[in-house]
Amino acid sequence: MGIIVCQTCNTTIEHFEGEKVTTLYAKCSGCEKCKEKASKLK
Ligand SMILES: [Zn+2]
Repeated sequence: MGIIVCQTCNTTIEHFEGEKVTTLYAKCSGCEKCKEKASKLK
């Protein structure tokens, strides 16, 4: 099984079927945690 993780907030965005355990990084479409993190960076 593989997972897609938000590279900004580390939240698991999506799971997908796979023979190996894979972690892919992507940007989610502005989840609450991303907004929270962005506001803390200021
Ligand atoms: Zn996010």
